[in-house]
Amino acid sequence: MIDNTALLQELLSQGQIAMANAPFLSKAPAPMPAHWNFDRVEGMLLGLAVGDALGYPTEAVLPSDRLERSGEIRDYCPNPHANFRRVGVCSDDTQMAFWTLQNLLADGGLLPQHVAEEFTRHPIFGIGSTVRDFIRAYKNEGKTWEQAGQPSAGNGAVMRIAPVLIPHLRRPTAALWADAALAGMITHNDPASNACCVAFIHLLWECLRRQDIPEPMWWLDTFTEAASQLEGRTEYAPRIPDHSYQGPLWKFVDQEVRRAITEQPSTLEACEGWHSGAYLLETMPCVLYILARYGHDPEEAVVRAVNDTKDNDTVAAIVGAAVGALHGKAGLPSRWIEGLLGRTGSDDDGRVFDLIDQARRVFGEVG
Ligand SMILES: [Mg+2]
Repeated sequence: MIDNTALLQELLSQGQIAMANAPFLSKAPAPMPAHWNFDRVEGMLLGLAVGDALGYPTEAVLPSDRLERSGEIRDYCPNPHANFRRVGVCSDDTQMAFWTLQNLLADGGLLPQHVAEEFTRHPIFGIGSTVRDFIRAYKNEGKTWEQAGQPSAGNGAVMRIAPVLIPHLRRPTAALWADAALAGMITHNDPASNACCVAFIHLLWECLRRQDIPEPMWWLDTFTEAASQLEGRTEYAPRIPDHSYQGPLWKFVDQEVRRAITEQPSTLEACEGWHSGAYLLETMPCVLYILARYGHDPEEAVVRAVNDTKDNDTVAAIVGAAVGALHGKAGLPSRWIEGLLGRTGSDDDGRVFDLIDQARRVFGEVG
């Protein structure tokens, strides 16, 4: 089993990873309960892929325009990449998450250099500017994987981070946090992104373990518990006009989502207020508020993410991973799973399902 704890400590001490060192990083996560079932992990991975596929055709459209144009989206739209059939087609979120999983399987754990290389090897659909800059730095400027990550607080690392927890299911150690941080920094080496990657892995891990439905505030508290220790002193500002906030992402998210949970605006109203784009100060409040409101109802959680946010494929991929981890594959509508082509490229239909089967065989049996 690969253990990246020492590598993370080395990068922290050399200032090569933009993140704070904290006691959180040396604490092993709690083990999965007895009679735990890999169905939860399958739900997490499929939730990510269906969220991405439901959102991708209307990515970056403002929610009010989308509603006017498409009505409420609850199923796959006719897709030009699949002869206009109503099927689920992947974008970057699914591609990069499942290429990560493919490398975890091949290497028996996370070797960041292999994952970095994988990201530069294929066409990426709906690619973000940060990943494009990372590829240029790695491929054209000859930077190493430790140097090529960009100082960007975009959501492009958090969206693909979920699979890194899979090799840790059987014997959880603090090396889980190292993998989350190192896998994230490959493309986005930024304190908010790195802290969000570790904090979201913490949230997913706790979803996988839970036997009941959490209270609304649990989602926020669980995220903040990790993110507040790891982000360090930062000065982010939201892009919302006339919003005077300046400081760490975690604090902004905490104050905004805590207020929303108390005041209960609709998810559309709340997400429009935060702008719901690819900037983590927009993505994370939307994700955590949708989970707080609809974490008990996986279909509605994903539907709200797809309809009520602008960067909807990524918000839905992140929300989908979380509700899938909590409710398992059986909690996701079967029509979404049946309609998913399962591609990670332009014509490798079924690849997603193959990788999930392999993950179950290699890393799945717990206890
Ligand atoms: Mg996408």
